[in-house]
Amino acid sequence: MATVKKRIRTIKVDADKCNGCRGCEVICSAIHAQPKYSSVNPARSRIRVITHRLQDIWLPVFAGEYARSECAGREVYTIAGKQYDECGFCRASCPSRGLFKEPDSGLPLKCDMCEGEDRPQCVEWCLSHVLTYEEREEEVEEEAEKLEDLQIGLEALADKFGVEKVKDAMARLSRSE
Ligand code: SF4
Ligand code: SF4
Repeated sequence: MATVKKRIRTIKVDADKCNGCRGCEVICSAIHAQPKYSSVNPARSRIRVITHRLQDIWLPVFAGEYARSECAGREVYTIAGKQYDECGFCRASCPSRGLFKEPDSGLPLKCDMCEGEDRPQCVEWCLSHVLTYEEREEEVEEEAEKLEDLQIGLEALADKFGVEKVKDAMARLSRSE
């Protein structure tokens, strides 16, 4: 079975150090603005900080996969006596909440590890050293890697044009073959 080397990028979160300054949200939204740095809007950030001042809760959560439908259930975590919001740790952009959706278009947002930058900018801007960036290489099956590349490509198209338009285009392509 053929294998290839894959670069694994990780951001570790030391949540106990977070003070809720939301600098990570500011820089993430600024670097993804069109043109870059032209606006700041945390609602467009791919990292959001869950806050509960009375309980001293500050927790950065990164935008993950798009989910077409809600889960059947909800999770509530209590850690060290602090109760986190329903679905508070979930990274999905899903229909049950407004988190991780582009506010104008409603399209899902996903952390892209600051594609095109040397390093993730939320890591660079977090002065409390909550976020730590690491890279390593792993051997993976070539076929699985190709499928993942395909999925990333399709997600990028869906981000740009919307899922329905991508589906229509694929249907037209398959008819013309
Ligand atoms: S920049 Fe760092 S300390 Fe500030 S909210 Fe984000 S993770 Fe927390
Ligand atoms: S790594 Fe980049 S895209 Fe991901 S949350 Fe941080 S600033 Fe945003």
